[in-house]
Amino acid sequence: MNLETLAIQVTRFHDANASAVTTPIYLSTTYERDAEGNLPHGFLYTRGNNPNRDLLEKSLAALEGGTVGLAFGSGMAAISALFQALKPGDHVITTPFAYYAAQRLLVDVFEPWGLEFSLVDTSNLEEVEKAVRPTTKLFWLETPSNPLLYLTDLQALSQLAHSVGALCAVDNTWATPVLQNPIAFGADVVMHSTTKYFGGHSDVLGGALVLAQDGELAVRLRQIQNLTGGVPSPFDCWLITRGIQTMPLRVKAQSASALPIAQWLETHPAVERVHYPGLTSHPQHEIAKAQMKNGFGGMLSFEVRGGLPGAKKVAGALKVFTQATSLGGVESLIEPRKIYEGPDSPTPDGLLRVSVGLEHLDDLIADLDQALKNA
Ligand SMILES: *Cc1c(COP(=O)(O)O)cnc(C)c1O
Repeated sequence: MNLETLAIQVTRFHDANASAVTTPIYLSTTYERDAEGNLPHGFLYTRGNNPNRDLLEKSLAALEGGTVGLAFGSGMAAISALFQALKPGDHVITTPFAYYAAQRLLVDVFEPWGLEFSLVDTSNLEEVEKAVRPTTKLFWLETPSNPLLYLTDLQALSQLAHSVGALCAVDNTWATPVLQNPIAFGADVVMHSTTKYFGGHSDVLGGALVLAQDGELAVRLRQIQNLTGGVPSPFDCWLITRGIQTMPLRVKAQSASALPIAQWLETHPAVERVHYPGLTSHPQHEIAKAQMKNGFGGMLSFEVRGGLPGAKKVAGALKVFTQATSLGGVESLIEPRKIYEGPDSPTPDGLLRVSVGLEHLDDLIADLDQALKNA
């Protein structure tokens, strides 16, 4: 089945009560037992599960080609659940070029709790091999990475992880299942901040884990999800499920605009560097072609002269782009990224991160043109 069709089919709720075409929102926190004390639909208490979350979780698994989907109250809650499934003394391999808060989570929360980790450039297989320890249990990858759009070879890294007895988990937020399915390349776990392209309208916070296999890890993560309680509300699940229905169209359109914007920026004299996996100048363009499909994503970043003040000046002069953090909504956003990351982050001072929205391409380029002229 084609993705557009799948996205509509898996999110359809079959309402036995009123034959509603769109999904009702089940706000009830608790579910009635029958005379024998059984739960007729399997729902007990909303932290454990509810019809809206169930529908979302099944949709997540279907879209990623996985077996089990788990929804969380935020992307960070999803990452935390995965780290909590490890034990003190276990070792995680990750990259300094991934989402900054994921690194902070390791440093500020999980290291004091006993987890060990190494920051390695995961685009370099040899470096990763060298970082492996007998206690390595998880490769935590992100590709394309936020905000420099470095790529990691999913097949090579999954193979390496499995050869040392570790799990391979991938933050697939930027690519979405529309452009990349890490499980197809051997990953065991896929994570999403559903706040971004899944929700798609900058109005709901959510996170997800999708597992390739059912089994021990799935049981453990369900337990963590329920016991630590970082779950989304039924309304949040409803919004994210609705977002899924248009995600294939949105992401394809955003990718189709991002490529010509990246190409245009690359020729602009005020722009020093453009980071976009769809550019033939991207050092890992071949990997992008091998593991991404339907386009290279709606996210790009570029560097201007003059460091952070230079980047701030450009962001401030834009009129169609909104200067704000986050990504994946219908509106184009831009931010001088260094503001949001600590002094230890490898992000260049003059870097502007762009989330391409659904406005007309010509208007976006014209806006960038006037802002860069005045910069
Ligand atoms: C936003 C984001 C996260 C964190 O998700 P929240 O929903 O904000 O908790 C994780 N990874 C990436 C790549 C993100 O862009």
